[in-house]
Amino acid sequence: MKIVRSKYLPPLRRHAAINLFGVFFVHPNVAVSRRLVNHERIHTAQMRELGYLPFYVIYLVEWLVRLMMRGNAYSSISFEREAYKHEADFQYLEKRKHYAWAKYVKKKNKRNKLFNH
Ligand SMILES: [Zn+2]
Repeated sequence: MKIVRSKYLPPLRRHAAINLFGVFFVHPNVAVSRRLVNHERIHTAQMRELGYLPFYVIYLVEWLVRLMMRGNAYSSISFEREAYKHEADFQYLEKRKHYAWAKYVKKKNKRNKLFNH
């Protein structure tokens, strides 16, 4: 995974990193942990199976819908829930089934708090 240090991406300071089309942009002073890289690699797998553009469209639509629901919209997005749940499992991508994120669309989010990436 290509990692680029940037002062401008992600645009919001409260997010440490952003994955754009498989390239991982991270603020200059953020420690890039193995866990953070794994989180972003899970997003890349989601993007590849959906096609990059549909991934971002679904991500944005789900975020907008979840803004109107209870809890934190960002951490409730199904792509994020899959990534947060499995980011510490470094073998996850070897056993992950395609479209694994889809099962989180309806599931209740137990980890509804603010995250920083
Ligand atoms: Zn994420």
